[in-house]
Amino acid sequence: MRQNRTSIIGKIFLLLAIQGFSQVAPDDGLKQLIDGNTRYVQDAPLHPNRGKEQREALVSTQTPFAVIVGCSDSRAAPEIIFDQGVGDLFVVRVAGNVIADIEMDSIEYAVHHLKASVVLVMGHENCGAIKAVIAGQTEDIEAVAELIQPAVDYTDKTKNQLYRATTQNAINMKNLILKSSVIKKYMKKGAVEVYASYYNIQSGKVDILEEGKGYKRR
Ligand SMILES: [Zn+2]
Repeated sequence: MRQNRTSIIGKIFLLLAIQGFSQVAPDDGLKQLIDGNTRYVQDAPLHPNRGKEQREALVSTQTPFAVIVGCSDSRAAPEIIFDQGVGDLFVVRVAGNVIADIEMDSIEYAVHHLKASVVLVMGHENCGAIKAVIAGQTEDIEAVAELIQPAVDYTDKTKNQLYRATTQNAINMKNLILKSSVIKKYMKKGAVEVYASYYNIQSGKVDILEEGKGYKRR
């Protein structure tokens, strides 16, 4: 009992400590994403925060709890996959979920100004951009291909290269985000966490990836 009370008090202090630079603790933000994804997988979405009331309350303000860096692919829409609503997610979408200066500015803006506490890079099953780079057919997507190339080189000639290169690309982009001085500052305060993930189109499930360990579900 005593331990429970200590842990509750600890949590309150942690919440107070992060107040002012994050609405949702990073762990709670990740849980909110995973819970929403589970509802989507189970075909039981709640479609939260989509009504007139929510829309009107957010006319002059927004407090998204997560940044999703995803692919432009029409099958990989974050609000649907994570069963979230208006004002919940700050989404950066570009073919191959790659990050250059413009995308990094968007991520940093969401963390620094909007106080988002989770940044999730999301690669996905059967990504056309990754496939094109593996096949060497990059004439229409040169700028994107250049950023994906290191992941393809790293997984060259390995079994199931499409999966390996897609997950490696998400991890490479996560590592790029970790180099940002803005993100580093907020991570040091415990106000933000960065993840790489893989979206399975078939099952609808998003797996959180961990470098060197394959992936595991949190
Ligand atoms: Zn894609």
